[in-house]
Amino acid sequence: MRPISGPDDWPGETRADGRALKPGESSVPSVFEDLIRAWDGDEVAIHYDHPSDTWMFVCIHSTKRGPADGGTRMGVYETPADGLADAMRLAEGMTLKMAAADIPFGGAKGVIAASALPEGDERRRLLLGYADLAASLGDNFHTAPDMNTTAADMDVIAERHRHVFCRSVDRGGSGDPGRFTARGVFHGIRASAARVFGSADLAGTRVLVQGVGSVGARLADHLAEAGATVFVADADAERALSIAQRIGADVVSPETALELECDIYAPCAVGATLNAQSIPRLRCRIVAGSANNQLADPEDADRLDRAGILYAPDYVINAGGVIGSWGTESLAWDADTIEARLAGIGESLTEIYERAEAEGSSTGAAAERLARARLDAA
Ligand code: NAD
Repeated sequence: MRPISGPDDWPGETRADGRALKPGESSVPSVFEDLIRAWDGDEVAIHYDHPSDTWMFVCIHSTKRGPADGGTRMGVYETPADGLADAMRLAEGMTLKMAAADIPFGGAKGVIAASALPEGDERRRLLLGYADLAASLGDNFHTAPDMNTTAADMDVIAERHRHVFCRSVDRGGSGDPGRFTARGVFHGIRASAARVFGSADLAGTRVLVQGVGSVGARLADHLAEAGATVFVADADAERALSIAQRIGADVVSPETALELECDIYAPCAVGATLNAQSIPRLRCRIVAGSANNQLADPEDADRLDRAGILYAPDYVINAGGVIGSWGTESLAWDADTIEARLAGIGESLTEIYERAEAEGSSTGAAAERLARARLDAA
């Protein structure tokens, strides 16, 4: 993005981008203005909470395939514009995720950018303010938990907004979606192993799970049950140790985890762990995990390909949460139907791997082509 300087940099009758000024308009485009102009999404709704200096954004990227759906995350960002940029990027990812999973929703994301993560009454007050913003978008915006928000937070938002997935089970919701996501990732890992090693049987396969929170801990359980040799790394050392003890895994330091010699690396913590610096350090054959936005740059899919590492595109393998919560709450799917749909994630990945090979492209590019073709057809 172009750096913004002070007003004195651009005196006169035109803005820095050359457009003629309207009466009373500043010659300095705001950072928000730049972000919104450069974005290809449909709509941005913004609310500013004065008392707490909290910014709230809902970005609707696309409603081409149905109402836009996406989680609401809370975070402490360096600047409000970083929160907006995060929401925009993630909303586009949701559009691709819905299209790749062939679910009749578009993509959106909500971000509550606070100066500190709120608790107690203040958290409730902010969530209700956010709920009003969400409700102002009517039937176009559906939401669910994301980073730093929980089923209990969704119960609060649902007091004022009709379209909230993953409320608490005792309030009629399907609760934490992590169990669905983990199961979908497990199926994706089996399909990836079949592709690379010729068998989906994970017995004896060495798997690194980076981040053992809601998704990673459950994934580690599934892997251990399947006989894999599991390694866990987490920024929270106590959490890593307790999960490792529960399943008989080894703990690896989060700083050196990526250099672990293993068959499969499952990123289940933060995004952008795959980049020009980290990819040459990887000692695995497959990357397949739940984290959103694993590639720092789209070219990293090619870097992985050139390194001989099979990459399971993140928005394909981590769609289980959306599939499971939507199926449970909107379609009354039973457990067997949900399991079959989550197993479908493995089938989708197999199709993407075959297309990538046939087209001579990276798996990331093949997944994006599939998702964009479904969007164009909508
Ligand atoms: P979580 O917050 O419950 O768990 C994340 C874990 O990662 C925590 O234990 C945290 O301590 C650890 N962690 C953070 N930074 C780390 C680092 N640098 N190295 C190692 N560990 C680190 O989150 P979650 O719900 O389990 O989600 C994990 C990832 O999957 C996120 O990227 C999320 O956006 C994505 N995702 C989650 C779901 C879902 O259903 N929860 C669905 C789709 C995608």
